[in-house]
Amino acid sequence: MKISTKPLLRVWAWQKEAACRGMDPSVFFSPVSERGRARRRREEAAREICRACPVSGPCGRFAHTSQQEYGVWGGYTEKERRSIRRITDRK
Ligand code: SF4
Repeated sequence: MKISTKPLLRVWAWQKEAACRGMDPSVFFSPVSERGRARRRREEAAREICRACPVSGPCGRFAHTSQQEYGVWGGYTEKERRSIRRITDRK
């Protein structure tokens, strides 16, 4: 039996255009002990990449709907996504 992957490929197609494609993921995901200024600097470097990314919209929506807990997605930090989730959960 052959299983079609077309719908799945369509769902993930935006990733082909990602500005972060092939980049070191450590820019987007923090080491366990990262805090304070180091964290803010890394997150700002990631957001700078996201600002120039042509698929930041789909990326941010994916992170929100799949409730990604870690990393910078669509230009949003973990903390920002948690805040958005708290607001939207109240509605
Ligand atoms: S918005 Fe940021 S995290 Fe998302 S695909 Fe683009 S560069 Fe990568």
